[in-house]
Amino acid sequence: DSEYRVRLVVLGGGGVGKSAIVKRFLSNTFCEKHRPTVEDLHYKEFDFGTMTLKVDLLDTAGDLQFPAMRRLSIANAQAFLIVYSIDNLSSVGIMKQCFEEIREQRADFQEIPVIFVGNKSDLSPEKREVPKEDVAEWIFCDLPRLRTKLMECSAKDNVNIKELFKGFLHLAKIP
Ligand code: GDP
Ligand code: MG
Repeated sequence: DSEYRVRLVVLGGGGVGKSAIVKRFLSNTFCEKHRPTVEDLHYKEFDFGTMTLKVDLLDTAGDLQFPAMRRLSIANAQAFLIVYSIDNLSSVGIMKQCFEEIREQRADFQEIPVIFVGNKSDLSPEKREVPKEDVAEWIFCDLPRLRTKLMECSAKDNVNIKELFKGFLHLAKIP
């Protein structure tokens, strides 16, 4: 069997659920409490049948705090998850800023897998501030690139979390 090892960095605003996604992925649990992250490094091997995914997973602080740390994490990453929350329009702005930072910092950015993630898809339709189509339009019209995906997920209800990480295998395999 083949394996794919990747240094993956999770970016996005504060409170969008970055740590909840990581926690769900690592230990299949969820916690209602928000505890601000500075920086947490994890490792996990994931078996997808024909392929083993080995992830060094860096969970970061949101709200564009700690610019020096973020620069360093962007410089060292091989792939990114950039998370927003579907009930928070301003978190989409922060997601775009994160992407801009990657584009500015990384000369090889067209090669880098980036998955944009709309978290909290479990929330009721009245709470939704961000239609998936709006984000899709920005991603696929304004910044067309090969190694990009957009997915909605719920760390709370465990929807699409495994698929998020599986997405990197597909993006990485594009010739
Ligand atoms: P981070 O700052 O991006 O790491 O956000 P956290 O993971 O700490 O989560 C922030 C808050 O959002 C917490 O109160 C979580 O319980 C909540 N949260 C995280 N993921 C979800 C989700 O999928 N659905 C819902 N409804 N709430 C979530
Ligand atoms: Mg966090």
